[in-house]
Amino acid sequence: MCCEMDRAFEEFHNDDTSPFGPITMLYSMWHASAELEGYGQQDAHSFFLAALDQIHAHAKGQLSSCNCIAHQTFAGSLVSTVTCSSCQTTSTTVDPTLDIQLDFPMDSTASSLTLGALLRRFCADERIGGDHGKGYDCSSCGGGRGVVATRKLSIKKLPPVLSFQLKRFAHNSTSSKVETPVKFPSRLDMRPYVEGSSGTASKTPSVDGDAPDDDLPSSLYAYDLFAVVTHEGKLDNGHYWADVRSGDEWWHCDDDKVTPTTLARALGQKAYMLFYVRRSLAYGQPMSTLLAANAANSAASNSASKTANGSTNGTA
Ligand SMILES: [Zn+2]
Ligand SMILES: [Zn+2]
Repeated sequence: MCCEMDRAFEEFHNDDTSPFGPITMLYSMWHASAELEGYGQQDAHSFFLAALDQIHAHAKGQLSSCNCIAHQTFAGSLVSTVTCSSCQTTSTTVDPTLDIQLDFPMDSTASSLTLGALLRRFCADERIGGDHGKGYDCSSCGGGRGVVATRKLSIKKLPPVLSFQLKRFAHNSTSSKVETPVKFPSRLDMRPYVEGSSGTASKTPSVDGDAPDDDLPSSLYAYDLFAVVTHEGKLDNGHYWADVRSGDEWWHCDDDKVTPTTLARALGQKAYMLFYVRRSLAYGQPMSTLLAANAANSAASNSASKTANGSTNGTA
């Protein structure tokens, strides 16, 4: 897959304007991922994750803090904080992630939703335990009857490229596809969904002793839309197309037909996957410049918080 990606980028950027069909890429995916093999229809999100997995597997690097191109581009992390209602003990778990998978509300009768609403739902407090009268099993106070816990999910590390999956394919008792339109912006501010940033209530210190996100410039939270993947059809069959941005131009890619389109039309799609790139990358502003500007005024507080935090944060 690494070689196939290499070939695709070479084809996109050379002077040859004849059409390019990524046939050998498809073949090598079939070869490498048995579950995608054959002529059956596949899910675009499954293909995306399998492709990243293949690139990772064939690029150099270890699983923890891997520096392969797939992880450098898409890897972020989520932090889950669970607080016991009885003793208020908080346990924190950090999990790596390659994308953000957004559920639709189960009981929604809304005629349209927004990406912001789905993200707020993703980060909303969730009650755990307390079901079936058993109570939350707290490792600190023992929990038991009447004890519940609150789980809060937020983003710990934002990747350079943010990939969202809008989980339109509901596989519960009644499998169906959610057709509710979701409005999404061309410019996205991720600050409210990041742990410890001013948009969130919790002020949990950073687990690895990094500077709190409040110290970072707002341009590090600013993302620009560059690709929209749309699925038309039913749960088990249908058709995909993609609207992609190149500079300020938008292109509609539908199998072998690539036609000019507009941002407005891309924003009107009933999206299944959305891709945003961090603005400070898009405009070529080096990260070192951004961080240097903040280093001076945050240096003192950083060293203070580093001594205070150490590496003693609990992990569930
Ligand atoms: Zn990797
Ligand atoms: Zn407890």
